[in-house]
Amino acid sequence: AKADGRATFRFFEPALDEQIRRDQALRSGLRTALEREELDLHFQPLVGISQPGVTCLEALLRWRHPLRGMVPPSEFIPAAEESGLITRIGAWALRTACHEAARWPWPIPVAVNLSPMQFRNPGLVQMVANALAESGLAPERLELEITESALLQDDQASLSILRELGGLGVRLALDDFGTGFSSLGYLLRFPFHKIKIDRSFVAGLPEGRESKAVIRAVVSMGRSLGIAVTAEGVETAEQLAVLRLLGCDDAQGYLFSCPLPAASLASLIGRLHRP
Ligand code: C2E
Ligand code: CA
Ligand code: CA
Ligand code: CA
Repeated sequence: AKADGRATFRFFEPALDEQIRRDQALRSGLRTALEREELDLHFQPLVGISQPGVTCLEALLRWRHPLRGMVPPSEFIPAAEESGLITRIGAWALRTACHEAARWPWPIPVAVNLSPMQFRNPGLVQMVANALAESGLAPERLELEITESALLQDDQASLSILRELGGLGVRLALDDFGTGFSSLGYLLRFPFHKIKIDRSFVAGLPEGRESKAVIRAVVSMGRSLGIAVTAEGVETAEQLAVLRLLGCDDAQGYLFSCPLPAASLASLIGRLHRP
């Protein structure tokens, strides 16, 4: 039994070690990723459902790691969040997105994601104001995407941050709607301009009765409050057809385009032509 135990231990130890070493390597690499210019922004279009055209471009971080190739945000954003590096990386993403959008030949808004730690950062409002001032981007062309999980326990505190951001003239989107303790009450309490329905609901279409019921409810609430509704993760024409029937305003997903480097945007806009 003793030999077995040791064999098992020896079998698992290298795997665990390997995992820890990879995590550490990822973190230390992340620390220098900014200076080494390994980070990049890709952009994915939101497309109008009832009227055609690109209504917004969402900026999504990409990390071109010198050894590991493309590291997806799902791997490095959590690490950046835990280590606090998200503050610098997030500021870089916001500044870069504003600068790029200010130079686009189309007046399409740009959407930038804010992580929970960024939302809690007392310097957030000033940082957004600076990014707008330095880039010259019109505030109404900047949309900030915030997940429910980023909102604070204290509703009043969240509300005052959202109001300050709104006061800059930027637009606010509630991201990944339906994945947290979602209640439609958020929409009544907080000044969001847009709701992005999480792709897990869209994945249930075209059949899913529950998905349809949720989307129908969100659209109806959005309508009465004047909040636009975007469906995320739209991959098939069948899903799009249902979303159109349910009254969603915009769709985002691989059906239209995956996130693309800035250099590919002109041909994308040409293909999905704006009205
Ligand atoms: P998100 O904000 O929900 O972004 C949408 C994600 O869904 C993107 O993944 C996008 O590539 C993916 N996606 C788009 N269409 C489809 C589709 O049709 N099917 C499927 N299965 N997926 C689709 P990505 O780029 O890997 O980003 C993952 C997450 O990382 C984002 O989720 C966001 O939470 C975070 N993230 C990305 N960039 C930033 C950033 O600049 N700042 C912060 N704080 N977070 C970021
Ligand atoms: Ca987002
Ligand atoms: Ca989302
Ligand atoms: Ca998400």
